Amino acid sequence: MSEITINHLISLSEPEISGNEWKYIKECLDTGWVSSVGSYVTRFEEMIANYVGAKYAVATVNGTSALHVSLLSIGIQPEDEVIVPTLTFIAPVNVIKYCGAHPVFMDCDEDTLCVDVQKILAFIKKECVRRNGHTYNKKTGRRLRAIIPVHIFGHPTDMDDLVDICFKNNIGIIEDATESLGSEYKGKKTGSFGKIGCFSFNGNKIITTGGGGMLVTNDENIAKRARHLTTQAKSDPFEYNHDEIGYNYRLNNIQAAIGVAQMEKLDEFINTKRNNFVQYKEAFRNLEQIKFLQEKSWAKSNFWFYTIKVHPEDKNPLMAYLLSKNIQVRPVWKLIHTLPMYKDCQAYALDKAITAHGCCVNLPCSVGLKSGEIEFVVENVKEYFNVK
Ligand SMILES: *Cc1c(COP(=O)(O)O)cnc(C)c1O
Repeated sequence: MSEITINHLISLSEPEISGNEWKYIKECLDTGWVSSVGSYVTRFEEMIANYVGAKYAVATVNGTSALHVSLLSIGIQPEDEVIVPTLTFIAPVNVIKYCGAHPVFMDCDEDTLCVDVQKILAFIKKECVRRNGHTYNKKTGRRLRAIIPVHIFGHPTDMDDLVDICFKNNIGIIEDATESLGSEYKGKKTGSFGKIGCFSFNGNKIITTGGGGMLVTNDENIAKRARHLTTQAKSDPFEYNHDEIGYNYRLNNIQAAIGVAQMEKLDEFINTKRNNFVQYKEAFRNLEQIKFLQEKSWAKSNFWFYTIKVHPEDKNPLMAYLLSKNIQVRPVWKLIHTLPMYKDCQAYALDKAITAHGCCVNLPCSVGLKSGEIEFVVENVKEYFNVK
C-alpha cells in the first residue's frame, strides 16, 4: 500500500493565480476600461513581443483565432495546402479548413513528438515541384503555401532546416507556439522563427487569461493586416466603413490585465516546471518501464507537460489505475488524420506518430504541484507496475 495519503484530486494542469491578477482586474472594473480597447491590452502585447523578441504583437480572443488570422494574414487562399503534424491538438488543423485550404499530415519525431522535419524535407523534395517561384504538390496539383510546426508540450521543433527549406521554396511558416511560451531553440524564443508565431492563454496553458491568444511577427504589414482582421476589418471607425470580411477576435482589457500579472511570473513558473520535472525524472530513474521524452541539446523546453512512454499494453490500464487514485492523467491527442472529417486528407509516410500515440501518457504538471503530490503520483505508478 501507498505510504503517502492524498485525498484531493491531483489535476493534470491547473492555473496558478498568485500574483497581481486581482489588483489589475479591479483597476479595470474601477475605471470602466473593460472592453477590447484599454491600456492592459497594449501592455500585454508589448510584454509578449519583448519577451519573445518580436517587433509586433496582436492580442486575440484565443489561440485558435490567432492561428486563423495568421493564415489569412500571409495570404492563404482556398485550395492551398498547409503541412501540419498529425500528432497535435486539433486547432491548427481546423484553421486550415476555416480558410478553405487543405492539410497535409506529417509524422513526428520520436524523442520530442514535434513534427519530423527531415520527413518534411523529403516530402518537398520528392513529392513537390517548383513552378514560377511557387511549390506545388505533384499528387494534388495544389500550391503548398504554408507549414504550421507545433512545439509539442513545450519542446521546440528543430527549426534550422525547416526555416531554410521554407525560404528556398517560398513556403510560409506559422509557428504554433501555443504550448511553448518561454521555450527556446538554440537560445532564441519559440514564436520568433516563422513569419508569425501564435500563443494561447487558455486555462491549462503555462500562463492564462481565462481564454486568450496572441500572434507575434517582425513584419509590419502582417501585423497591421492581422490587427485589421481581428477588428471586423474596420477602416473608418466613425463611418463604419469595412473593407473586407473581418472578425471580432480582440482580447478584452480584463483578460489582458490577468495576462500582464501572469507574465510577471512566467520565468518563475518555468523554473518550477523544470524543477518538478527533475523530481519526476529522478524518482523514476530505476523504473525500466518508464521512459521520458528527450530534451534535445539545442532546446530549452518550458516543460508545459510531462510525457512518459510506456509499453502499449500498459497505457490504458496504467491510466485507469491512476485515475482511480484521483490522479488526473491523459493520453496524447487522437491522431488527426484518423478523425472522420480529416480521414480523406493526404498523410505522408506516418509511422512514428502511430507508435507515439500508442505509448504516451501525460502526468500531472500544474505549476502549483507539491513535492508530496509528485511522490504520490510516482508511488502509484510504481505500485501499478508491481501489482499488475
Ligand atoms: C491550446 C492550443 C491551441 C489553441 O488554443 P485556444 O484554446 O484556442 O486558446 C492551438 N494549438 C495547440 C497545439 C494548443 O495546444
